[in-house]
Amino acid sequence: MAEPAPASRTDDTPAPARLTVLAGPTAVGKGTVSADIRARYPDIWLSVSATTRPPRPGEIDGVHYLFLSPEEFADMVARGEFLEHAVVHGRHHYGTPRGPVEERLAEGRPVLLEIDLQGARQVRITMPEARFVFLAPPTWEELVRRLVGRGTETPEERERRLATARIEMAAVSEFDHTIVNDDVTRATDELVALIRGEDG
Ligand code: 5GP
Repeated sequence: MAEPAPASRTDDTPAPARLTVLAGPTAVGKGTVSADIRARYPDIWLSVSATTRPPRPGEIDGVHYLFLSPEEFADMVARGEFLEHAVVHGRHHYGTPRGPVEERLAEGRPVLLEIDLQGARQVRITMPEARFVFLAPPTWEELVRRLVGRGTETPEERERRLATARIEMAAVSEFDHTIVNDDVTRATDELVALIRGEDG
């Protein structure tokens, strides 16, 4: 039958430079892997998300996030300036500004989004040709240990994040690839190979 070939996600598809979406539960180390990519692979462009969450110590506006007021965020939503956006952990708004991502992709530069599950699902609908990667902890106990050890959240916030993490862990099968973050350097290198299309 002359049916159009479905958008292929098989590992034997040669992959041009394109969008990669990295998701995974809270405290799994997405931020650490992103920082490692920023340091060692400057050719890969990391999207800077907007958020209404207040900055943590050491976080720089425009580098780690664009820190916006709820009003500023709502204005960007109204103007259709987000590729995806979501309320994460039932609290703050996070979103990927669309313009910079589209510009980099048009330049042929590999782009990485580090976002939550809701955002990944939105991108899957609007940009199904993207590559979807799930960063998983070695075990659930290790994830809890990392979240407690980080010490940046109040007990209430931690519980909220663990509740989200349980839901996010159940979504692993929706992703094209899973990387276990047992070692940051190894996990980063595995992700970079996927971003560069070296997986097939
Ligand atoms: P944190 O507050 O710890 O920096 O991030 C909390 C969560 O928000 C993480 O799971 C992170 O992946 C997610 N996140 C960060 N930026 C975005 C974004 O632009 N969109 C969505 N949907 N989630 C994001």
